Amino acid sequence: MENIKEITKLLPGYNCKACGYKRCDHFAEKILVGENPENCPLLFKEEFKGNLEKIKELVSISEPLEIKKTCASKTGLVGLLDGYDADFLLDPLPEEHSCRETLIILSKNPIKKGDHIKYRPLGCPIPHFAEIIDDAHGMYVVHLEGACNRFNTEKIEYIEVGIALIAAFEGVYNGKTPEVGKTVKFIPTHCMMQKVHSGVVVEVEGNRVLIEGIDLKVW
Ligand code: SF4
Repeated sequence: MENIKEITKLLPGYNCKACGYKRCDHFAEKILVGENPENCPLLFKEEFKGNLEKIKELVSISEPLEIKKTCASKTGLVGLLDGYDADFLLDPLPEEHSCRETLIILSKNPIKKGDHIKYRPLGCPIPHFAEIIDDAHGMYVVHLEGACNRFNTEKIEYIEVGIALIAAFEGVYNGKTPEVGKTVKFIPTHCMMQKVHSGVVVEVEGNRVLIEGIDLKVW
């Protein structure tokens, strides 16, 4: 378990799925049972220089390991950072690369649909990069732009908008079936910290779910 945590810390944390796994911690488990860490292409980027060697070193000194579940709990899912149980993972809608977030942005910087923005969600220490895919009534729906998008495309100018309040998440649930009106705890698969979020389910249609009243404090 400790080694899985150590390896996860050395992985880029983008949960971009380029290695074939949904989350970096899932890939960390597989590395400990023989998968090649070089299957994470982001480890070859300048900013992660040295991490590949450290991972290989950790693997070489690890005890032979039967597969253990990092996510073992009564619900089957646990936030990596906070250790809370979650009801489900939130995956992107079909053909989309991240879940949708609806933001309330207080900045006076003019922004519109199609713009790329940099913001920090209230309560989260990590700056986020995103594209606005819809705007209405003072709220902005965005797609997060993870490492792959940012590394593989031409240089994008991001408009700095400061703090944003996260009003809603929309995506495909993967876990316990959500019920309209109930408070749920979930982990967006694009969340670099794999932190458990909470909110109230306002729509469920097939496996699509819309969750509003997002809170990063879970108790
Ligand atoms: S950053 Fe992407 S490719 Fe690398 S381990 Fe995490 S999910 Fe896999």
